[in-house]
Formats: sequence, structure tokens, C-alpha cells
Amino acid sequence: MTEKETLLEVKDLHTYLYLEQGVSKALNGITFDIKKGETLGVVGESGCGKSMTALSIMQLVPDPPGKIASGEIRFQGENLLEKNKREMREIRGSRIAMIFQEPMTSLNPVMTVGKQIEETIRIHESVSKAEAKKRAIEMLKLVKIPEPEQRYYEYPHQLSGGMRQRVMIAIALACHPDLLICDEPTTALDVTVQAQILKLIAELQKKTGMSVMLITHDLGVISQVAERIIIMYAGRIVEYGTRQSVFTNPLHPYTEALLKSVPRLSDEDGKELYMIKGMVPDLTKEQRGCLFAERCPYAEKRCFEEEPKLYDTGSGRVCCHRYGKRGNDK
Ligand code: SF4
Repeated sequence: MTEKETLLEVKDLHTYLYLEQGVSKALNGITFDIKKGETLGVVGESGCGKSMTALSIMQLVPDPPGKIASGEIRFQGENLLEKNKREMREIRGSRIAMIFQEPMTSLNPVMTVGKQIEETIRIHESVSKAEAKKRAIEMLKLVKIPEPEQRYYEYPHQLSGGMRQRVMIAIALACHPDLLICDEPTTALDVTVQAQILKLIAELQKKTGMSVMLITHDLGVISQVAERIIIMYAGRIVEYGTRQSVFTNPLHPYTEALLKSVPRLSDEDGKELYMIKGMVPDLTKEQRGCLFAERCPYAEKRCFEEEPKLYDTGSGRVCCHRYGKRGNDK
């Protein structure tokens, strides 16, 4: 099998938040890549660095208090951290697009949805008004909004939550990006609509050949769509592997705990869902050892004293002393 071409490469990225109580290492040296046409899942609890990863790629980290302290973000071979504001504005929307959890906060409430799609097209491409309108209606059709010619004239508040998210996807895809970043795109929706939106993203990804980075706190959400999965904890990547390896043979205790907290059809009625005890550590405090040690059922003395290495697992990577103990320590 030929290896797919790399679209995005993130190397040893550090993004810090300079807060009154100290420097929070929101991203503490993360490294990963996304291949062309691939769907990469990024999973973890809130505050683990998922959204900060997306904002760093888009260079939308709120400054102050945030700053990318070091690292590289290579997109189609170019280091995005060397781009100026104008160059980044051109890349955002045309080559990399992003959709968020709550479309109502991203959509303009006083502009029809059709006009909003049209505007995105006209910012990035020199097309006539008539051509932009035709494309906007085509986009509404593409994201399966019924009666697109009429919906074009509607305002965001006239649409359901699911329809609004479809409009956001239409805006994001209007200029044919190579990478679509979806940050918790279905969290605010009910389960049936959630499944429809995920199916739509997967269909559009196949149709356009774009890559998708799907960020979620819920492993269940990406079980059907992601080819590879990153598990983040406290600003670091603790496990990285294929969907198959992460779901059938999780190597990090945090991944194991996240899998246990996914509800299953076979679960008995009334059975309480598994909860991971404790909290993500305060990232402004100096840390020793493994950052998951306080919550880990397998923690030993060494875990509190020594930072675990990142081990190559063959199909990915894992950051845990237990993996080394199983004879993988070379
Ligand atoms: Fe648990 Fe130790 Fe592995 Fe950390 S290094 S995840 S505390 S076993």
C-alpha cells in the first residue's frame, strides 16, 4: 500500500497562555501529521488542548493571553508560523476552513444564509455577484438543505440547529479547502441530527478529497469516521494510532478510561456511565512525572517521579511507563 501524501505537519508545538496566576502550557510539545484525504480524530476532555491545537493551526489563538511559543506548523510544505496576517487571512477560508460547535455564534444573525455563503466566495475569489449566488445555492444543495432556492433568503434564526450547522459547513466548503477542521461540530445537536451531520461530513470528504480534523470529547462520535486518532491529555498527545488499534487495543490508561465512558447499546438500563475520577492538572503549576498519575488506576511510584517517554508502537505512539515495562523499552 502506498503511503498517502502529508498535508499538514505539526512539530513540537508549544502554545502558552500567559495568565495572572502563571504560564499555562496549553500545548506542551505536540507532534502529528494529517495525510491528504484522511480524517483524523482528536479526542480528550475539555481543557486538554484540542481546541487550542485547532486555533494554533489557524493562528487564531487569542493574544493576549495566548502565544505560540515554539514549534512548526507545515501546511503543504509551507511553515504557517512564518506567514504574516494578510497571508494567513488568505489561507483561512480558502485552503483551511473551520466549523465550530455553536453555529449561532459564527453566523451573522442579520444577514440571510445565502448572502453569508456568497460573501465568503467573493472574499476569496473574483467572481460576479450572479456567479457567487449560483454557487451559494449549489452549496446549500450540496449540504442537503431542502428547497435551497428559498432557504437562500432565510436568516439563521429561521433554521433548526442541524440546518444551521449545514449552513456553516456550506460556508466552510464554499472555497474548496484542502483541510476542514471541525471543533465539536455536533455537540450542541441531538443524537439523530448528530449522526446526519457526521455522515454528511464523511460524504463531502469522499466527494471533495479534502482532509478532515475532527475534534471531539466523545470517542463514540469518531468511531465510524476517523482513520487515525490522537488522544490528548493536559496539553500533550498521550496516544496516537489507527482507529483499529485505539479501539481494539488501547495502550494508554487514559484512552482505556475514555473508551469505558462511551455508552453502548448493550449497557443495561439504569447502569451508571463510567466517569474518569479527578480533574485535569493545573497547567500553570510545575509538574513532575506523568500528568495522568493522580487519576490513573495503574500508577506506581515511578509515575509520580519520572516523565514517561513517547514509545513507537508500530501503528502509532504512546506515552506511558507501562508500555516500556512490557519489554518495549529499548
Ligand atoms: Fe498511568 Fe504511569 Fe502510564 Fe502515567 S505512566 S498513564 S500514571 S501507568
